[in-house]
Amino acid sequence: MKIAVTGGKGGTGKSTVATSLAVEFAQSKKTILVDADVECPNDYLLLSAKRKKYSNVYQPIPKWDFKKCSKCGKCANVCKQNAIVFVKDKYPAFVKEVCIGCKACMVVCPQNAISMTKKQIGTIYTGRNYNIEIITGELKLGELASGEIVASLREKSEEINKKLKSEIMIIDSAAGIGCPVIASLVGTDYIVAVTEPTPSALHDLKRVLYLAQHFKIKSGIVINKFDLEKSFYRKIEDYAKSNNIPIIGKIPYKKDFVNSTIKMKPVVEINPEYKKVFKEIIENINKDLKTKFQNNETNI
Ligand code: SF4
Ligand code: SF4
Repeated sequence: MKIAVTGGKGGTGKSTVATSLAVEFAQSKKTILVDADVECPNDYLLLSAKRKKYSNVYQPIPKWDFKKCSKCGKCANVCKQNAIVFVKDKYPAFVKEVCIGCKACMVVCPQNAISMTKKQIGTIYTGRNYNIEIITGELKLGELASGEIVASLREKSEEINKKLKSEIMIIDSAAGIGCPVIASLVGTDYIVAVTEPTPSALHDLKRVLYLAQHFKIKSGIVINKFDLEKSFYRKIEDYAKSNNIPIIGKIPYKKDFVNSTIKMKPVVEINPEYKKVFKEIIENINKDLKTKFQNNETNI
């Protein structure tokens, strides 16, 4: 079973939920945790795991043979990323950091002066602790193609999954609803949408649940710090009810979460009372997966 943990807004506690869910699952099932927040991956830190390099991630980039180039400027005109700077009567200049490897420049060049090479855009690491195999994708500083890293991370995770024959894969996605998040959600069986009782978190939650509906993936809401603002908590409840999306967990606001981050231990280890909360989330996921998917248009 593949479960994505997401939520739209950053800082709602996705990684805390993902790591604690993984720890609970790993008590009885072979579990893999995939950290797909490739710009700021920190699940391995939250689980005090040492990581080692598994593979590099590369992306194609163009290279020029200026002996063939007629300085026509077509490659610069076609590049939507503005990765090629062209000044009349000069050879094109290349800003490799913003190139996304689409190859349009190579296709359009009338002199066949452009061929493709590659650049490293990130790294995939593996680590292990709490009986969990932790697979981490990390974008190289200054690079933009986080979606590419997540796609490659998903591929490598499947490779490792096959070898380890794991039963549960938890994918901890980045915040937002962009390309890296979509690459984290696609192909999963269930989406755990983590939110908190604030207007911005509810706004972003609606957008991420809209994505879940679009991809026809069942989803449930976990409200972190639910007791922080009761009136707004009720607004989330009303929204969930009117859109037929179950609230699968409610996590109270306690200092244990801060201690969990400082001590680099999952919150279920800091305070075993939380085991009950995460066990209940797992039970609710299993229960919800047995019901039929309803393709309601979510009200965003
Ligand atoms: S399209 Fe080809 S020939 Fe024209 S400037 Fe670019 S590299 Fe040179
Ligand atoms: S491969 Fe695409 S993004 Fe990169 S320089 Fe060529 S046209 Fe621009």
